[in-house]
This record gives sequence, C-alpha cells and structure tokens, in this order.
Amino acid sequence: MIVLHIDMDAFFAQIEKRDNPALADKPVIVGADPKGGRGRGVVSTACYIARKYGVHSAMPISQAYKLCPHAVFLKPDIERYKKVSQSIMKILAHYSTLLEQVSIDEAYLGLEVNDYEKAVKIAKRIKKEIYEKEKLTCSIGIGPSKLIAKIASGKNKPNGFTVIRPHGVEKFLKDKKVEIIPGIGPKTAEKLKRLGVKTVGDLRRLTQEKMEKLFGKRGRELYLFARGIDERTIERERQRKSIGKEVTFERDISSPQEVIEVALELLKEVLQEAKKENFHFSTLLVKIRYFDFETHTAQTKVNLCTPRGCTNSYTPGVYKMALLKLVLKFLGKKKIRLVGVRVK
Ligand SMILES: [Mg+2]
Repeated sequence: MIVLHIDMDAFFAQIEKRDNPALADKPVIVGADPKGGRGRGVVSTACYIARKYGVHSAMPISQAYKLCPHAVFLKPDIERYKKVSQSIMKILAHYSTLLEQVSIDEAYLGLEVNDYEKAVKIAKRIKKEIYEKEKLTCSIGIGPSKLIAKIASGKNKPNGFTVIRPHGVEKFLKDKKVEIIPGIGPKTAEKLKRLGVKTVGDLRRLTQEKMEKLFGKRGRELYLFARGIDERTIERERQRKSIGKEVTFERDISSPQEVIEVALELLKEVLQEAKKENFHFSTLLVKIRYFDFETHTAQTKVNLCTPRGCTNSYTPGVYKMALLKLVLKFLGKKKIRLVGVRVK
C-alpha cells in the first residue's frame, strides 16, 4: 500500500481569501480578537504573507499583533470551514475507501497500489480536482506509511508535492531533527537534546528499553518511527461528529451549586478530549434530565475556537460562561438526575 497525506495550506486563511478577493495580497490572521494588542487568545491560522512576519498557529494573538499590526484579523467561522472540509473529504473518498480524516484540513488516503508512478498520478489528479472544485491548494506527501507521508506533506508547503519512496526513507530521516517525528514536541526534543540526541539518526542509538523508559507507552512506537517503521493502519471510521460526556447522579440533586460543579468538570473533560483529538467545533450543548425523566437540551454557538487555537488554556472563560448560561435555565425547578455536556 502507498499512503497519501493531504494537508490543506493555511486552511482557514485560504478560505477567507478565496471568499474575499480583497484580502488576496494582505496578511490575514484567523484567530482571537487582538483587541489592539491586549487580546488574550491565540492565532488559529496565519496566511503565508503573515507568516513572513513570523506569525504562526498557536502563537498568542497579542504577539501576532505586535509582529504584524496591519494584518487583517478575522474570527474563525468553523461552520463555513467544515462545509469546505466535507466537500474536500468527499473528493478524496472517490479515490479510495481507505480514507482517514485526521482533522478539519488533513487526511490520510491509502492506495492499494505498489507502483509509485501510479500513486503520483493519482495524487496529482487529487490536487487538481481540489483546486478546480474548491479553488484551494493543498500539500500532498506520498510514502510507504502514514509517518512518512505526513512528514513528506510538510516538506514543501504551500502547494507542495513530495514523494518519499521506501528505499529513500532511512536516508531521508537520518539527518533530520527529532522534531520531524510526529509525537516529538519541543519539550521532548529538549529532553532528548540533554542526552545528546538531536537528529533522527542520533535517536536510533537509543535502545527500545531506553525509549520505553523515556516515553512510556509511546516508547516502542517512537523507536520504530526513528527507523521509518510505522505499524499504524488507516482508520476509516474515525471521523467524529461530536464529543460529549454525561453523568447520572447516584441520587437526584437539588443543589444548583452541585450541578454546576459537575457540568464544569464535564466541560473540562470534553475540552481536553477535543484538544487531544484535534476536534473542531462550533456549538456547545447541555443536556439535563430531571428526576421524572423529563429531558431538555439547550445549545449555543461558541464559534470562537479550534482545538489548536483562539484560547490559551483550552478551558477558557468563554466556554464556562456559555455553559453556565445554558445550565442556569434548568436549575431551581425540579431535582436533577443527569447532566451532559457536548461539543459539535
Ligand atoms: Mg493544514
């Protein structure tokens, strides 16, 4: 099998530019409101012009404002982006049933071919079709595994096209910094540096036991990644529509304080999971069931955020306030049996 990793270029910013041609030559930053440099959220996506000023995803919006005050700052419109995302995933699904959507703008596609020439042709068709239908560019990486395809797609962004054939994997990885391996972030890289490990080649000097000691459960996978080996399969059904949690109380609750506490705890868990899964959402929902099984739901738009960005802590005040508003409607009436929190 040959794996393609398709990654849209500066997805949110690109959509904004497509839909408003006046933005074409301007630095565009999608994210939190900069509030003249005092805003507290983060950058969700910066277009390539803004990146020239040093602005990047997940950077505090106040810092982005300092670097590029004349940029056009836009709030993310996740629902609009999701529609575009669905259209792109539909295009991809035509080429193979082995499709794994990783996030709103990223997917793996497994091709049941062993011929790289064929895979390249298909990938070029995909790129062209996405551009023709959506007027958006993407970067595609082609390789023998998810690991290599993903690294390849990041190599020549934007509008990149990179092929790494099996015999080139070892050599390709050898001199790269360890950060190139997905799962090795700046913190881990720092830890490794102290051990004298800077490149993937260096990483190969560590035994599997050592790696397991350092990274726990992930040790074995990273040990194999360093050698270009990736045992992960393409997971088709992974795309989630929503993330939610609920709790049924041991006994029906009448204290509003208690219900609120539980709701906030559920919110925290839901947001943590959304972050872990890189799940983008625009709506917050609350479910309340009274002791007599009368059940209500309420929802509100929280169209401010993506897992990567717009807020610093991921359990930000903005969600809490939205949640409290929803929950308060249902309190002080009857005893409560169940509380649920969901984002979609
Ligand atoms: Mg992208």
